[in-house]
This record gives sequence, structure tokens and C-alpha cells, in this order.
Amino acid sequence: KEKLKDVNILRFTWVGLDGMIRSKGAYVDSVDELIKTGIGLTMAMMSFTAMDYISPYGSFGPEAEDVFLTPDLSTLSVFPPSAMVICDLYRGGLPWEYDPRSTLKRTLSKYSEYEFRSSFEIEFYLVKDKRPYDDAKCFDSRAYYTNKIIPEIAETIKSVGIVPLRVIKEYGPGQYEFDILHKPSLRSADEVIIFKEVARQVASKYGVEAIFMPKPFNKMAGSGLHLNFSIWKNGKNIFYDKNDPLGFSEIGYSFIAGLLEHAKALTAFAAPSINSYKRLVPGSWAPTKITYGYNNKSAMIRIPTPYPFSAEIDRRIEYRVPDPTANPYLLLSAFIEAGMDGVERGLKPPSPTNENAYYKKDVEDIPRNLREALQELKKDTRLIERIGRSIVEEFIRVKMAEVEEYESYVTDWEYETYRGV
Ligand code: GLU
Ligand code: MG
Ligand code: MG
Repeated sequence: KEKLKDVNILRFTWVGLDGMIRSKGAYVDSVDELIKTGIGLTMAMMSFTAMDYISPYGSFGPEAEDVFLTPDLSTLSVFPPSAMVICDLYRGGLPWEYDPRSTLKRTLSKYSEYEFRSSFEIEFYLVKDKRPYDDAKCFDSRAYYTNKIIPEIAETIKSVGIVPLRVIKEYGPGQYEFDILHKPSLRSADEVIIFKEVARQVASKYGVEAIFMPKPFNKMAGSGLHLNFSIWKNGKNIFYDKNDPLGFSEIGYSFIAGLLEHAKALTAFAAPSINSYKRLVPGSWAPTKITYGYNNKSAMIRIPTPYPFSAEIDRRIEYRVPDPTANPYLLLSAFIEAGMDGVERGLKPPSPTNENAYYKKDVEDIPRNLREALQELKKDTRLIERIGRSIVEEFIRVKMAEVEEYESYVTDWEYETYRGV
């Protein structure tokens, strides 16, 4: 209550299957009770209708029972003038089987002997009047002292418990990246959501938009959400093995083998938008091939070269397919299930790719579009059972509706290209 003295609305926030951050607001004077009971949510409004083809759910009619937004107070984030708390969706007093955050929690509880640590690298554009906010080049030093928005985002995320590490002027004009400290996986998923909310609020103060779509502009760099990941047990990083020439452990290789086996299905969660596939093209530093490599930025999975003095802490993998339209809870749940399937079956990966992967003919491609990725997901029954059948099927329904809408939508490119033919 003391924390809420400078705000007047507390947002009860959740992320549905479409990846969009949604909130129900409560005036602060009324939150005491709601924090205990949760806020009811009408499922019919969450399902797609003829008017709204991007929607968090697909198949709940007006007769569907309410679910409850049940706040997790450890996520309370106050950054005046606004405040938010991330919620789990409950129905009938139990976690709802269609809730992404509850799904991640269920995944994590299956492997309670391990601690999964993750950290995201969040790339985005600052945009003003539909154009990049600046014309600064990659690492352009001027951006760090002329831009007031980026340092303010850094200060604000720090004030809500997110630890910013690198703050980078990325390749595209107006494009920036924040790398944040690794945390237990549930918290790192929450931090992606809090980060987006903070960045949008700070940018909007300056009349600017923070845009997280994977490919907002033609011929400019895309924005990724690289996922860095390691597994810890009894305070030790078990991806590390000092006897391996590259300091990488057997269990780490098996985890990678699981990711490679389920790579096509996993793409549906990592790159869940029509726009995602315009980023995943050769030469973009975003991957197109199902392979891994040491420090290879053209591979789907990169084992970064550690600094020699911190190999033990730093042994991790970087999954490069995700973009910021991913629902981070579903993504992490699917990612962990895919990797652990490899660990449990003791799978071994094929040999790594150490050259430029984009033009390697003997390596399979990542799905080329969302329809293909969803079809691959549908086929991967092993992964579906591990995540939870109902939520995955509903995810496919929601995303297929988006695909179908798009496939009959005429774009500017088509008009320009074909009007004279
Ligand atoms: N922007 C690139 C992407 O879309 C990544 C660049 C980098 O390696 O940081 O994934
Ligand atoms: Mg980057
Ligand atoms: Mg990276």
C-alpha cells in the first residue's frame, strides 16, 4: 500500500496465447480486497470474434465460466505514474490449464531438482511518426549521450528489480538492445513483460513508441529476443565440464540435441507472428538453419565463447530464434520440455556447424512461415504432451486464425508489384 502512494491505478496483468500484454486496472483504494480474491475475467471477450482476429483465446463462448486474475505479489512493479502486478489465471480455485504462466510453473515443478536460469536479450526500435527515432549506426557513440530515453529505461527497470547489464545501440537506426541479468526462469519471463511495459511508458513520455515487432521496417535489421540458458544444481552450473575441450558438459549436449529434434515445433512458440518470418532470413544474424555452433551467430543455437576466467559461470547456450512477440512463458515451457526430452533420452547432437550456416545445404531449414511452424507443432505429439495438450491446441487455433486472416489480406507490396502486370 505504501508502495502505491504515487499511483492511482494498479494493473492486473497477464499475457494470453497471442503474446499481447493485457491488463485490467483497479483504482488503488479498492485493491486490498482484490489482491486476495483476484479479478474476474469474462472468457467470451477473450475469444476471437468477427471484429478482432488477434485474440488471446479462440474457443470460449459467452457461456464460458469466468477465470480469475490472481496476482503474484512478488511481481508487483511500481514505476509511477503506473504500477502493475502479473497474474496467474485461475478457474474454480485451480490454475487454469490454458494459462501460459501456470503452464511454465507446471513445467518447472516437474524438474524441481534443477534450477533453470535464463536471461533475455531484448531488441526493439524507438519510433516516432512511424519512422526510426534516430539515424545512429551500430554502436554509434553519439546515441549514448543524445538519447534521453534509453538511460531512463535503464534506471526505471533497475528500480523494479531488473538488473540491466549491456545497453547497446543496435544495428538498425533507432534500434536498441538491453541485456539483463540471468534469473530463475519464471522471473526472467516476468521481466520481459515488465521490461516492455516500462520501455513503452518511458518512450511515450517523449512522444516516442517502443516497438517490439520482429521486423518493423523493410531493409532494416530485425529485433530478436535471444534466450540465454543454463541449468544449475546444488549451486553449480551443470552445463560446465572442465574436462571437455570447450568446457561444455554431456548433459548440455543432450539438451541441445533435444532442442534440435524439436526445433521445428519450437519455432511456433519462438517466432509466433506472421512478421516473425521476415526477420528469419539469410544474412540477418537471425537464424534460418537447424544447427548449433561455437560462437556462430548464423546458427540456431550458439554456445558463446566464455571469458576464460568465468567459464564456469558463463557456460550457457543462446537460442537465437525467439523474437519479442513470443509469449515468454510458453516459449520457456516449450524450450525446457524440448531440451529435457533430449536429456532424459540421453540424445547426442550431430556435429556442430562452425562455418556460415546460412548457405549450408546439408542442414535443415527452420520453418519458413507461421503456417508451416504451426503444422510442424501439430505433428510433434511428444512435445505437445510434455507441455500440455489443451493449451497447445488452443495456441494453434488462435495462431491459425491469424494466418488465415493474413493469407487473404492484400499488402502494399502486392499492389506495387502487380498493378502493372
Ligand atoms: N538483430 C538480430 C536478430 O534479429 C541479432 C543481432 C545480434 O546478434 O545481436 O536476431
Ligand atoms: Mg543484438
Ligand atoms: Mg545475442
